[in-house]
Amino acid sequence: MAFFAARDAETSLVCPRCGARLHIGRSCHEVHMHCPACKAQFPLNEYISQADEAMERFLENVYCDRV
Ligand SMILES: [Zn+2]
Repeated sequence: MAFFAARDAETSLVCPRCGARLHIGRSCHEVHMHCPACKAQFPLNEYISQADEAMERFLENVYCDRV
């Protein structure tokens, strides 16, 4: 499995399907929430209102990192 250093971060939100910690990740220019345990993916929009510190830090990096 590939290791996505700055492209994936664990959040304190839990997966509605299996209860594992959700991760925030990005592929190309899209940011999404995903669960490494059950492989579910969720649109960021559904979680942005409950964004925790990890998510905010991640999103800051995404925007600073833009080429
Ligand atoms: Zn899950």
